[in-house]
Amino acid sequence: MNYRGRFAPSPTGLLHLGSLAAAVGSWLCARHAGGRWLVRMEDIDPPREVPGSAAAILAALPKFGLIPDEAVPYQSSRVAAYEAAFEQLRRADLVFPCWCSRSDLAAAGLHRGGHCIAPADTHRAPAWRLRVPDEEIAFVDALQGPQRQRLREAAGDFVIRRVEGFYSYQLACVVDDAWQGITEVVRGSDLLDSTPRQIWLQRCLGLSTPRYLHLPLVLDSHGRKLSKSERALEVDPSHPLPSLRRALAFLGLQPDEAAADAAGVLHTALRHFDPRKLTRCSGHHVA
Ligand code: GLU
Repeated sequence: MNYRGRFAPSPTGLLHLGSLAAAVGSWLCARHAGGRWLVRMEDIDPPREVPGSAAAILAALPKFGLIPDEAVPYQSSRVAAYEAAFEQLRRADLVFPCWCSRSDLAAAGLHRGGHCIAPADTHRAPAWRLRVPDEEIAFVDALQGPQRQRLREAAGDFVIRRVEGFYSYQLACVVDDAWQGITEVVRGSDLLDSTPRQIWLQRCLGLSTPRYLHLPLVLDSHGRKLSKSERALEVDPSHPLPSLRRALAFLGLQPDEAAADAAGVLHTALRHFDPRKLTRCSGHHVA
């Protein structure tokens, strides 16, 4: 099978050191395997979107030498595909409408029964949840090793279509990884615990499961995940070399101090890159 990897940013802010490290890590793994590297814009959450950030992220990537091999799809233009997947799940009776309020859920904890616990309300649009079995989902992460999660305990019957009609990240991601023929998902380990939900969705939809590799996360000095508003770790695409070298050092590579441009720095990194030498841990402090 030909390797196809991807970087899938959400337009919720500018690129920062954490997202740059995920982009560089997925690019290195794809190029090391002689595969293709794709980018997908995950703009399916309009309330969280920061205007202009999708264009800014896509304009920044080539400045760091990261050039996708195919045209970049926007998830906002893929709603018909998510609708079709949702209908497939609905026909198979794998989803149910849910009118639970936040306080219903706070009282009940996770939603686990396979049906809504609040009375149906025909005047209000429901959210739609996927029925989750009491099963353990296991997979082997290429960096973090064997993983297992009892889906019902960890996630419960999770939302795949929100009250406002938006499809969830989990559904859109699974539909598009399959549609783009992604064979290897390389991303930050903040998404490690989403992976069992995605594997379950793949099974429900009859899609194959790619291989997963979750990179360590760039953490701030307090051990927290970087948020896109964290100024200290913003990257400057008009002055790309310092942050590119920092992202490579974070991935355990000795950055090339002599190379004159981003493409040269990446090229040297690729010659020395070995995915088996990545460090297995869920986070590194850099700030
Ligand atoms: N769009 C997600 C994010 O920026 C990443 C999705 C993924 O790589 O699966 O956090």
